Parts: sequence; structure tokens; C-alpha cells
Amino acid sequence: MRNIVLATSNAGKLREFRAALTGLEFEIMPQSEWSVPEAEETGLTFVENALIKARNAANHTGLPALADDSGLVVDALGGAPGVYSARYAGPNASDRGNLDKLLDALGETPVERRGAYFQCALVLLRHTADPTPLICQARWEGLITFEPYGAGGFGYDPVFLVPSEGHTAAELDLAVKNRLSHRGQALAQLVEILKRQLEFWKLATARAVLPEEPLAS
Ligand code: IMP
Repeated sequence: MRNIVLATSNAGKLREFRAALTGLEFEIMPQSEWSVPEAEETGLTFVENALIKARNAANHTGLPALADDSGLVVDALGGAPGVYSARYAGPNASDRGNLDKLLDALGETPVERRGAYFQCALVLLRHTADPTPLICQARWEGLITFEPYGAGGFGYDPVFLVPSEGHTAAELDLAVKNRLSHRGQALAQLVEILKRQLEFWKLATARAVLPEEPLAS
């Protein structure tokens, strides 16, 4: 079993990542086990921020590190709140504060211009100086409602309408949200890549230990 440190202190994310990677010979450990300090998210893109977080965790633990960065991108707001989703209404903003600011910013923007998506970038660094990190990205398309609905989820879920379900993300069953969401889709990509790599290494090692064929005389 190989250890991978997860660059988050969010217990919900830890559960989601562990569930997705079960059976893959990896033990996912939260970075809090090593008291890793939070990295400053100075990137202008989700990928940059995920890399910063993963590298910070790999640096402090000496282990392979997995990080995600996500947020909401709203077309009519030129992509805002984007990488600033968590701090849209200020440095210590609450989910409710962010959501109210979003609804204010959109005002009476008509429904056909309320398109938005959640974006997720996942980065796996095999070590601090890994020059070829594994990067998976996914988006979840929806519409911003005029008022919040539902009590589940977190962040912008109550105002994110998922057209295929006819409900906001905050009204969805957690298992349904995890399957459809930006993070769920990026995690599914990562699992596929890791499965293929593990399979490759198993086959490659099995071949390497096979006795050589005797030369035909
Ligand atoms: P993080 O990078 O995953 O911690 O997410 C940054 C911010 O994006 C969160 O604080 C939320 O405001 C928003 N966000 C990311 N994913 C979701 C989601 O699945 N639902 C609602 N809000 C989200």
C-alpha cells in the first residue's frame, strides 16, 4: 500500500477521494497528519493553484501529493468568481456571503445569460520536483438561479441549477452530486489513469522476472 498525501483539511473531500480510490493500492492521508501549513493560492488558474497546493504538501511530507482546486465560473461575470470563489465576498467570507454577492452581481440578468460551470483541476505530483505531474480537469455546466434552493451541499450549491436533474446541486442526493460534479468527473479520470498505470507496472514487472526463452539450437 503506497501513501499519498491529500492537500486538504476538508473531511468531506478526504472521504470522497478515499471512496473513489478504494481498491487501488493507495492509502490517502490528509496533510493535517503532518501539520502541513496551508499554501497561499496565488495562481491565476485552477491548475496553477492545485499545483501550488500539491507541491507544498509534497515538500513538507516527502510523499506523492494529490491536490484539487475548484470554483464557479459565471459567463455573464466574465468568469468571476473563478479562482476567487472561496473568497469572493472577502478574505473570510462565508458561503452565504459569497452566494449573496453572486446573486447581487447577476441581478435581473435573464435566464438565457445565467450560464455557469464548476471547474475542477486535480494534480498528482509523484515527488516535489516531478516534471510531469498528472493533471485531470473537468467541468459541470449549469445555470445560476434567482434565489437559493435546497439545504444540502456547500458553497454555491443552492444557486447552481443542474438542468439534467431539474434541481439545484444543494437539492441533489450526495451520491448523485458526486457522480455528476466537476470533482467527481475529474476523480473518475484520475482513477482510470491510475488503474492503467498500475496494470502496466504489474505486466511490466511480471515480464521482467520471466526466465528467458532458451535459445533454439
Ligand atoms: P475548493 O478549491 O474546492 O476548496 O473550492 C473553492 C470554492 O469553490 C469553495 O469554497 C466553493 O465556494 C466553490 N466550490 C467548489 N466546488 C464546489 C461545489 O461542488 N459546490 C459548491 N461550491 C463549490
